Amino acid sequence: MTVKNKGISRRNFLKGLGAGSAAMLLPSALPAVASSSETEEIATLLDISKCIGCGECVRGCSEVNESKYPEPKKPFPVMYPTSRVEVEDWSDKRDVDDRLTPYNWLFIQSAEVEYNGTLHEINIPRRCLHCQNPPCANLCPWGAAAKQKNGITRIFDNVCLGGAKCRTVCPWHIPQRQTGVGLYMRLLPKFGGNGVMYKCDRCYNRIAEGQQPACIEVCPENVQTIGPRSEILAKAHELADKNGWFIYGEEENGGTNTIYVSPVPFDLLNRAIDKGAGKPGLQPVADSMADEETLATAVAIAPLAGIAAGIIKAGHYLSSSAKGKNNE
Ligand code: SF4
Ligand code: SF4
Ligand code: SF4
Repeated sequence: MTVKNKGISRRNFLKGLGAGSAAMLLPSALPAVASSSETEEIATLLDISKCIGCGECVRGCSEVNESKYPEPKKPFPVMYPTSRVEVEDWSDKRDVDDRLTPYNWLFIQSAEVEYNGTLHEINIPRRCLHCQNPPCANLCPWGAAAKQKNGITRIFDNVCLGGAKCRTVCPWHIPQRQTGVGLYMRLLPKFGGNGVMYKCDRCYNRIAEGQQPACIEVCPENVQTIGPRSEILAKAHELADKNGWFIYGEEENGGTNTIYVSPVPFDLLNRAIDKGAGKPGLQPVADSMADEETLATAVAIAPLAGIAAGIIKAGHYLSSSAKGKNNE
């Protein structure tokens, strides 16, 4: 377990990186992305050959998204049956930054890989890939996760009951649960859900204002580029063709809006990285929504949609009246 430096502010970023880098960190307008997102989904390109693993992106994410993190109420209600749902409490471990948690939506995976006689030290920023056909959104029984027109997939914390279906069906098991927070505490504290699921929301609010996502803005090595998916893919192929590199995300899970390019094959990286809970792999992933079993699951949960509509309506009402907060 490693510890975050929570004290990094924009001023400290500027100071730490020096005047030469400072211009890059000033609020950067994103008119091209904002306007293109009306006609085409936005995607990010991550050139991992450039990543030095400094963690500025992780700290930047934490800093700008801190107000979205859960503030659970304790003690947690005892669930019935007690064995059905496991309590997942990260509220006392907010500094964990070596995996995904409800309080850490981005982390750096590192690996040493020998390829073509050269030892490569590779750092890989990991977060939600914002799939083009996201099973987390398509299969959430409560409609709490949704894909926006611009390609961003979000989980609405005022609707989510924390049942974790999204994590089960995500090929990388990205969303992470915090117990003791959200709608279930007001509706079914002992019988339903168990919190709220959290993940990268691609800084949707910053994008809407024409700014870059924080992790892109603060990176001193310009690892990430954001833009219309067709342009991002063209850049990825240009780099791959020119350097003999490899691409991940173009086809995975039917296509994602996060495209990685790497000087090392992804199957070697997948073998080398530390994987497990909150630490996604880089395995080949077929289109899970095209899979017959997944579609059968979707059909099986369809009757819940009517109940979901009622709960969601109640949730919106309770949430807006209790918190005065609207996340839509
Ligand atoms: S993506 Fe950029 S900010 Fe993040 S660890 Fe890599 S070099 Fe540092
Ligand atoms: S990577 Fe997982 S959580 Fe993110 S959009 Fe795809 S299915 Fe959903
Ligand atoms: S896009 Fe925003 S929410 Fe997602 S990892 Fe980057 S900074 Fe965090």
